[in-house]
Amino acid sequence: MPLNRCHSSFNMAGQPNQHNFIMTFENLQLIEPILKALKAEGYTKPTPIQAQSIPLILQQKDLLGCAQTGTGKTAAFAIPTLQLLAKNQQNEKGQKKIKALILTPTRELAIQIEESFSAYGKYLGLRHLVVFGGVSQKSQTDALRSGVDILVATPGRLLDLMDQGFIHLQHIQLFVLDEADRMLDMGFVHDVKKVITRLPKKRQSLFFSATMPPEIQKLADSILVNPSKVEVTPVSSTAQTIQQAVYFTDKNKKRSLLAHLLKEHDIPTALVFSRTKHGADRVAKDLNNSGIKAAAIHGNKSQNARQNALNNFKSRELRVLVATDIAARGIDVDDLTHVINYDLPNVPETYVHRIGRTGRAGASGVAFSFCDAEERPYLKDIQKLIGKTIPVVEDHPYPLMDENPVPAPKPNRQQRSGGSSTRGRNQGNSQASGNSSSQSSQKGTSKRWFQKRSER
Ligand code: AMP
Repeated sequence: MPLNRCHSSFNMAGQPNQHNFIMTFENLQLIEPILKALKAEGYTKPTPIQAQSIPLILQQKDLLGCAQTGTGKTAAFAIPTLQLLAKNQQNEKGQKKIKALILTPTRELAIQIEESFSAYGKYLGLRHLVVFGGVSQKSQTDALRSGVDILVATPGRLLDLMDQGFIHLQHIQLFVLDEADRMLDMGFVHDVKKVITRLPKKRQSLFFSATMPPEIQKLADSILVNPSKVEVTPVSSTAQTIQQAVYFTDKNKKRSLLAHLLKEHDIPTALVFSRTKHGADRVAKDLNNSGIKAAAIHGNKSQNARQNALNNFKSRELRVLVATDIAARGIDVDDLTHVINYDLPNVPETYVHRIGRTGRAGASGVAFSFCDAEERPYLKDIQKLIGKTIPVVEDHPYPLMDENPVPAPKPNRQQRSGGSSTRGRNQGNSQASGNSSSQSSQKGTSKRWFQKRSER
């Protein structure tokens, strides 16, 4: 599937255009308790998506936001949502009713969004709750019974709780659909449409997506009324700010190379990407055996195990987190210094999403990639997308020797190409869909391998 980038009149470099001269939160007319909370978070000025979106949302306009994680888009919708609800808070009588719903594809994103509401709204007294599948619903239903203003949910658990009568959406004033293109990738669009039919017709809607394929544009058209559009940092340009390097090596030397880099370089925290769940487990095990504290997160781990690993990584008890693309989606770790692509992804946009985990909100970041002989075409596609050649580190102890390895067995389609509409609601086990388009030849790549690749 071709990746449809967003198009709009906004400056593609992610800078606010000349109409967006507002550069402080004070100028955005935010109320004092929110300004105080943002100060406590250490935010000094709004990011471009925040500067553009907050005034429009406060004017109660529908919004189509083309932005990926890492741009500050969560705060772009959370801050004005809190302000709009805070203003009407005094008028509400009796039990609190859900007035804002944020629908997001994964548990990790849902948790992080709720944490953002908690941080920016800590002086407001609004109640928020996150619900997602894969865990007992008891604590969620208990909280719902005592009243909630803002609900963050993944589609499957939301529908389950609605069907059981724990959640009613008739008081929704503001609906946010987050990561709409991921919803499509993960086969959740049907669930999303079902939720939408239960929302009041009169409401404000905000729609966020990193890409705008036709199906997503159609979904946006069905949800939004006369929306304002904002757009920042297209996926391919994020990579420009991150320091990148590639290490050519043999597949069977990657584990030694990883341990070597972690021992020899100043790498305080590293998120390591593995193509498969099994691979992630093996990499984490090898690192622990070499005395480097690491854990793996992927779809086969329980929600608790994933959350524990993430918390330990955030608190720096773990130096390395090894993740598959889906498990890492939405992971938001402040000050993540390094991303390491243990395996290169075959979808070039996935590379950009991966390395965008570091260098958040303007901070600097480093991304190392390991490339074996079979992965050379992936590297070529990635460089084409980001429009630059990634510098090669020549001087390392595990150089690529075998240019013509025996081809690996045909990979599991689910892991390689992601998008599947057959997947269950709470599995969330997919990657960005789309296939590499470049079929250009690479020196030293066996013909047999190439035939295999074009069969996929
Ligand atoms: P997001 O795109 O919502 O995933 O946000 C990416 C990261 O940027 C998160 O760690 C936020 O806490 C951080 N962030 C969001 N807005 C700002 C801001 N105005 N100043 C500094 N950091 C921010």
